[in-house]
Amino acid sequence: MEIISDRRALQRWPNGALVPTMGALHDGHASLIREARRRRVGPVLVSIFVNPTQFAPHEDFARYPRTLEADSVVAKAAGADVIFAPPPEEIYPDGPDAAARAAEHFPLPQAATTPALEDRIRPGHFGGVCLVVARLFELAAPRVAIFGEKDWQQWRVIDQMAQRAAADAPIESPLRHLELSVAPTVREHDGLAMSSRNRYLSAEDRRRATAPWRAIQLARELKHLALTEIEEAMTNLLVAEGFEVDYAVIREEDSLNAPGASTPVERLRALVAARVGGVRLIDNAPLHPRHGGDSIDQSMGTRA
Ligand code: AMP
Repeated sequence: MEIISDRRALQRWPNGALVPTMGALHDGHASLIREARRRRVGPVLVSIFVNPTQFAPHEDFARYPRTLEADSVVAKAAGADVIFAPPPEEIYPDGPDAAARAAEHFPLPQAATTPALEDRIRPGHFGGVCLVVARLFELAAPRVAIFGEKDWQQWRVIDQMAQRAAADAPIESPLRHLELSVAPTVREHDGLAMSSRNRYLSAEDRRRATAPWRAIQLARELKHLALTEIEEAMTNLLVAEGFEVDYAVIREEDSLNAPGASTPVERLRALVAARVGGVRLIDNAPLHPRHGGDSIDQSMGTRA
């Protein structure tokens, strides 16, 4: 496995399977890398880039864990062929101010503007996400890119952005043939969704940190109730565990808008974002568990 930081070196691995990450790799990332390997489309590329344009000034950009040596062990074991770990100037050659402006003006798809979930709590975040993912697609020209169900709204935003980019791209552009996939959330033994930020949790907060997953399971048990009642029950559980709740909602899973009366239960998803001890946890799952437990059916999450 090679580790490169120069964007031009990426040209040696075209038509591959790309797994974009911010590093501090855990088993969730490893499962995405294994999925990329399983696709057998070409080289498996893992990008590791703590993207400044998706962090607000008060967020954890400076203290976000940077652990390239350990990451290379995880990526290699999972089947990566190359890690692309660029400095910011490789991704944003026009400098940080131009990058910040480009993120601010990025034309956002619907899932980044109407749900009032992450887009409300983290204004500006999806502009940065779209900018860096579009840039990685341009630089790596992958055939396949794999994302995690863990960040469901992000997945919907990137999928919509890529569909639009494919429709607008010239016929010879690799964007036309780019296939996106979403892979299931990998959890700790007690249900906590793995996250690079879990390491910020104190021992006591780590014990409470199963609450978002328990709130989602409670929603599933209550799925015969009115959606507002389910949402209230989820919020109450989180508050009782000492969380400050950003949202605990049931949404239509593609648009992330509020469901209509005729939305089938199979299209509903519970989404939670809540903070404990200064650590923000997000989690989500279908309201109606799919066969194979909480894993989303791969074929449903794959778009050619
Ligand atoms: P991050 O490094 O947090 O930006 O995440 C990189 C990719 O890994 C994203 O597509 C995430 O959705 C995905 N990911 C993060 N945590 C998990 C998890 N616990 N299970 C599966 N995928 C994950």
